[in-house]
Amino acid sequence: MPRALITGITGQDGRYLAELLTSKGYDVFGMVTGRDNPMIPRVCANAPSLEIVEGDLQDLGSLISLLDAVAPDEVYNLGAASSVGRSFAQPEITADVTAIGALRLLEALRVRDGGSGAVRLYQASSSEMFGTARVSPQDELTPFHPRSPYAVAKVFAHHTTVNYREAYGLHASAGIAFNHESPRRGIDFVTRKISIGVARVRLGLQQTIALGNLDAARDWGFSGDYVEAMWLMLQQPEPDDYVLATGETHTVRDFVEVAFAAAGIDDWERHVVHDPRLLRPSDVDVLVGDASKARERLGWKPRVSFPELVRMMVEADLEQEARHDS
Ligand code: GDP
Repeated sequence: MPRALITGITGQDGRYLAELLTSKGYDVFGMVTGRDNPMIPRVCANAPSLEIVEGDLQDLGSLISLLDAVAPDEVYNLGAASSVGRSFAQPEITADVTAIGALRLLEALRVRDGGSGAVRLYQASSSEMFGTARVSPQDELTPFHPRSPYAVAKVFAHHTTVNYREAYGLHASAGIAFNHESPRRGIDFVTRKISIGVARVRLGLQQTIALGNLDAARDWGFSGDYVEAMWLMLQQPEPDDYVLATGETHTVRDFVEVAFAAAGIDDWERHVVHDPRLLRPSDVDVLVGDASKARERLGWKPRVSFPELVRMMVEADLEQEARHDS
């Protein structure tokens, strides 16, 4: 049975990926930094054979020991300090976990693997790296212009992954994933903040949602679709980089409108207040990806549409908020 190690197991991608790999017959190991993480029972609920193991992207020794103990065939580096907004307040932690953390994992693999390419690595690169992109849509050749400490850290991790592939022959691939969401998305992200807020407004638990920049546009897909591409990338004989995107872009305002409509509320403007404290020192205006390479070489395309994604998130939160309230 193939063995997979996932960092960032408690995030939405980690959870969907663990379920996918379990269904494919993998032995799956999910890395956490401490066993007191309250997410662990939830993560294990849908992937009962998942084994939780300890390690830390901020500690090289722990990664070397973990690779020895798990002896994985595939490693998925989904761990990061992943909130763009918070990265402005915590730039150093962001750089240490997201940038140097990826370097540590690559070093651990290099030491263990010796350039044989026997262990395959997926690095979660991000469309945030494009930032103020000069061309639209963005593909694998579009230059990066990061606009946040998070995005800068992801650029470092991306280039380091490519460098270790070229310098040491690691089978290391990077997925440049555009925003992808789900009912499991953290509440730091605008989509989940909106879906929870809409559900609570619908249930009469709150009157308004405070938001920042409504004009930002993102290429939003479904996390469950994106983890399939991650797996497909590691099944290729040669490592490479792929943009993962839907090719459609929508503003935060569109998301709000569709989310309220999904809850049967048409006069959404009454329920949204602008909070300037939620504006970022520098933001990304618009992102939209061209995933032709992934479509042609991996046979991958996202299945869930934008309105389906929004509805899925709002319905899940309506159910959850109603349960909490009872
Ligand atoms: P990102 O694309 O990785 O930064 O994902 P986010 O979901 O955090 O943010 C997407 C866009 O929504 C950004 O342009 C934010 O400035 C904008 N936005 C507007 N209001 C909010 C808010 O209240 N929270 C967050 N997280 N983003 C917001």
